Amino acid sequence: MKLYNLKDNSQVVDFETAVKTGLGKNQGLFFPKQVSPLENIGRLLELDSHQRNFEILRPFVNENISDDQLKQIIDRTFAFPAKLASVNKRQYCLELFHGPTLAFKDFGANFMANCLQSFADTKPITILTATSGDTGAAVAHAFHGLSNIRVVILFPKGKISELQQKMFTTLGDNIHTVAVEGTFDDCQTLVKQSFDDNEFVKAIGLNSANSINISRLLAQVCYYFDAVSQLPEEKRKELVVAVPSGNFGNLCAGIIAKTLGLPIKRFIASTNLNDTVPRYLQNGEWSPKQTVATISNAMDVSKPNNWPRIEYLMDSNQFDRNSLSGCAVNEEQTADTVRELYNQGYTSEPHAAVAYRGLQDSLQPNEAGIFLGTAHPAKFKSTVEEILDIEIPLPKELAECSVKQDLSATLKPDFETLKSHIMKLK
Ligand SMILES: *Cc1c(COP(=O)(O)O)cnc(C)c1O
Repeated sequence: MKLYNLKDNSQVVDFETAVKTGLGKNQGLFFPKQVSPLENIGRLLELDSHQRNFEILRPFVNENISDDQLKQIIDRTFAFPAKLASVNKRQYCLELFHGPTLAFKDFGANFMANCLQSFADTKPITILTATSGDTGAAVAHAFHGLSNIRVVILFPKGKISELQQKMFTTLGDNIHTVAVEGTFDDCQTLVKQSFDDNEFVKAIGLNSANSINISRLLAQVCYYFDAVSQLPEEKRKELVVAVPSGNFGNLCAGIIAKTLGLPIKRFIASTNLNDTVPRYLQNGEWSPKQTVATISNAMDVSKPNNWPRIEYLMDSNQFDRNSLSGCAVNEEQTADTVRELYNQGYTSEPHAAVAYRGLQDSLQPNEAGIFLGTAHPAKFKSTVEEILDIEIPLPKELAECSVKQDLSATLKPDFETLKSHIMKLK
């Protein structure tokens, strides 16, 4: 399948090029012109999940990845389950946090890493990414130990939890981590400056691994099908899905799944106080405000970078605008909702709670709902413990890395400094 640059339709690339370059000309996102519905969804939902994922992904990648390779990539990527947990009679949480770093980003990062590896290029590449938490860990674990690919992760020094930091700074080998003496925005500026320096890009084979990479989205499409396949038949007729959103990659994947034919009636885009999209869906005005810090911090984004893809699916009439509504949830409501879920016997964390709030507030009596659980409660241990006044045990993934040595370097937020640091890495 060909992919178009949404800002410049004359740039048309194959899957491999899109994965390797990330962004197109003028910072345009790559996307298929037409997402063609799959045949016989009923049969697809009966298949075993790896077989089903193969059929979903094949049309997108078959120019560059052989069937045998794709099967291998799927076995490695979907090595952990997307579990549908029943919360009450008609609401379910799709638990996407059973991977190595306990967050849904493991799916996308794993798929991207395995695809890049399968292109078997002899030229080494460098993945450079800035993280305020979850992305760094997922990318680091997905790429750890892969040959010919080195990873450089920037994070704001002292601004993320120690546990979160240790999930990616303790790996070593081809995973290089840099604590930047500045803010997350400084880290992002450094990444941008790197990509703007053409010579540098060529010299180190620079690539990004953020959620604009089309490979990450495609892997996420699969678990929406997985969710519906686990749902009792009678709950599939009027299904509502609520997605806790920051950069809107996850929601975009869900909308692709619906466009492919998955029976989802409508979506709810749930955000925290960073509510650019819910306001836009209400009044048609795109007016991002200053980003504010919240307890669902992986969604502290006011200019969501995947939105143009969703807008395109609506503009090209592949997805009906009326099947999407927004919901913005404030801090108090988020904490109350974590408690509300706990009182129903379900221990959650702020991101999933934001999604559940949106679902619970709009679900009609004839509908069934799924909200996405994007992180394990233990990943937001202190917040959840404070809200619920309970103790959350540390899962083994977190316990193991918490005792390892932090291998990160510390640098000033200065591009030349970073550049020479990266040039010296092996
Ligand atoms: C990244 C992240 C989100 C937001 O996902 P997007 O695809 O950027 O909208 C939500 N929850 C958690 C826990 C995350 O790490």
